[in-house]
Amino acid sequence: MNRYQEELQRLEQAHLTRSLKTSVRGESATIRGEGDTLVDFSSNDYLGLSRHPRLIETAIRATERYGVGSGASRLISGTSPAHAECEEVVAECKQAESALLFANGYMTALGVLTSLCSKDDVIILDKLAHACLIDGARASGARMRVFPHNNVNRLEALLKSERERLSAGAQIIIVIESVYSMDGDLCPLAEIVRLKNEYGALLLMDEAHGLGVLGPCGMGLAEELGLQDEVELQMGTLGKAAGGAGGYIACSRLLRDMMVNKARSLIFTTAPPPAQAAVAAASFDLMRSAQDLRSRLTSFREYVSQALGGIDVPSAICPIIIGENGAALAASTHLRDAGFVVPAVRYPTVPRGSARLRLTLSAAHTMEQVAQVIELVQLELVRIQRG
Ligand SMILES: *Cc1c(COP(=O)(O)O)cnc(C)c1O
Repeated sequence: MNRYQEELQRLEQAHLTRSLKTSVRGESATIRGEGDTLVDFSSNDYLGLSRHPRLIETAIRATERYGVGSGASRLISGTSPAHAECEEVVAECKQAESALLFANGYMTALGVLTSLCSKDDVIILDKLAHACLIDGARASGARMRVFPHNNVNRLEALLKSERERLSAGAQIIIVIESVYSMDGDLCPLAEIVRLKNEYGALLLMDEAHGLGVLGPCGMGLAEELGLQDEVELQMGTLGKAAGGAGGYIACSRLLRDMMVNKARSLIFTTAPPPAQAAVAAASFDLMRSAQDLRSRLTSFREYVSQALGGIDVPSAICPIIIGENGAALAASTHLRDAGFVVPAVRYPTVPRGSARLRLTLSAAHTMEQVAQVIELVQLELVRIQRG
C-alpha cells in the first residue's frame, strides 16, 4: 500500500474522510441531491440572495456587456468599470475611504496580510480565526501569536509583550472575525478596539458571517456597534449572505495602495469576471435595504433559541455540539434521511471531541421548515443521551 492509500485509510478509520457531492440549489432553500429534494440548512446564503431575480438579471446584463471573462489580471487590463463601481459601493457602505475586490475571501486574507506584514511585524490572531487568515499570516513571514478565543486579557498580555520587544516602525495587526464560523458567536469588538488603540495596532476584522446579517443596513457587527471607523481593515466575502462570489477589503487609500502594489493574490491572478463584480455591487445595494429579510432571519433565530432551551443565537449559525465524530455523523445522516441537510463538522475543522451539527438559518427558509428541523434535532439529542 502506498503512502496516500495509508493516509486515506487512517482518515476512514477515524470517520474523517470527506468527499464531494453534487447538488443543484433550488427555490426555498432546497437542494436536489442524488434523486431526492432536501431542505438545506448548510449553506451560508443567509438572506437567500443567491437566487435573487435582480442579481440574476444583473449577471446576465453585465455578461452581455463585458463578456464572460476579464482577460487579464487587475493590474494589466482586467479592471473593468464593473470592478471600479463595485469598489465604490463597498467603500461607501462600509464608510471607508476605499475598497479592493479580490476573487474570493481566501485570496483577500492572503493578499491583505502578505502585503501589510513581513518578518519584522507581528500578527496576533484569535485561536478560532479562519484557515485563510492563518494561511495569510503564515505566508507573510511575520511573527504569529495566538490568543485563546475571545480572551481579551490574554490579547492584552500579548500586545504588551510584543510592543516592548518590537523595533520602532514595526506593525502589529490583530486578526479577528465578527461572527465565528463554527460557533456562531460574536467577538468582543468594543474591548478589542480599545486595546488596539492603546497599543497602536491595526485591526483586521473578517465579517464573513456578519455581513448581511448584523447591523441596521446589514453591514455587519462593526456597523451594529457604530465602530466601522475603528476597524482599519474591514474584510468580508461576497460568497455568503451577498449571494455571489468574491472577497473585499474596505480600508484607507494608503493601505489599498499597498495591496495594489504588493498583494500577490491580486497581482498574479486573472481578475474576477466583470459580472461577478456587478453582482456584488447590486448585492450590497440590496443588502442595505433588506430589513424585511433580516427580521425574518431574526424571527428564526429567536425560535431556535427558545426551542433549544434559551440558548444564545447571536447570528445565523447554530452549532449543536455532539462530541464524538461517529455520533455527529450518524445524527447528520438521520436528518438527511428525513429530508434535511445539516452537516456534521469534525476535527480538524473544530477541536477534537467537539464534533457538532452546524445548522445555518436563512431568510429563504419557511417557519415550518425551521420548526421541523428543530424537532428532528431534538429527537437526535434524546437518542444520543440514551446512548
Ligand atoms: C468562508 C470564509 C472565508 C472565505 O471566503 P470565500 O469567499 O469563500 O473564499 C473567509 N473567512 C471566513 C471567516 C469564512 O467563513
